[in-house]
Amino acid sequence: MTAISREEMQRQVRRRLLFLRESGVDALRIPRRAARPVPQKPPSPSATLEVVEPERALGAIRAEIGDCTRCRLCSGRTHLVFGTGNPLARLMFVGEGPGYDEDRQGIPFVGRAGQLLNRIIEAMKMKRDDVYIANVVKCRPPENRAPLPDESATCLPFLRRQIEAIRPRVVCTLGGVAVQALLDTSMPISRIRGEFRNLPDGTLVMPTFHPAYLLRNPEKKKEVWEDMKRILDLLALKEGP
Ligand code: URA
Repeated sequence: MTAISREEMQRQVRRRLLFLRESGVDALRIPRRAARPVPQKPPSPSATLEVVEPERALGAIRAEIGDCTRCRLCSGRTHLVFGTGNPLARLMFVGEGPGYDEDRQGIPFVGRAGQLLNRIIEAMKMKRDDVYIANVVKCRPPENRAPLPDESATCLPFLRRQIEAIRPRVVCTLGGVAVQALLDTSMPISRIRGEFRNLPDGTLVMPTFHPAYLLRNPEKKKEVWEDMKRILDLLALKEGP
């Protein structure tokens, strides 16, 4: 029997899942944890199959980022802000990059914008621990400026891999930078928000306004709440009976 590599196995599983999705199957009724068995005994020398669990995959991505010096943002950081939350989250929020408080604590969305995001999550009847929160760039841009295109491009592959590891049903992008980076578009957030889009692997993206923008423009909260309701409806639909 020919042994196949883990990468080949992952490719085959991915192809099979894409085929099922294209055939109209949008849920497999396998408990997520049961679908990812933890090996009970040490693998035999010939074992080449291993199911990579999201938590382990995220750990590997974090380890690969390491003490990053891939772009100029490293020079001003206190902490690299990788992302936090539930590795099995069905909903992931993505912002643009850490601000002052996030840089100090190494945790995304802990400042004023983060407190508003917490309230949005609570209004959705969820807890912060139910979702996963990350940013396009992992280090704070100076003076909280938006990340420059080359900084986003350098860090984006890590965000894409975080999404691949978690496999959320929905990625809710917060503000223009996140949606433009993930969908590789220059469309302004005011035109793109409120409608589901797809990543190349089929993951749904809901673009909405950034909480920091809502702090300056509270009248826009209504629109964000409409977007959150779209997400909740979608998640309820995907939950199945
Ligand atoms: N704004 C962001 O985009 N991300 C954070 O983590 C905090 C504020």
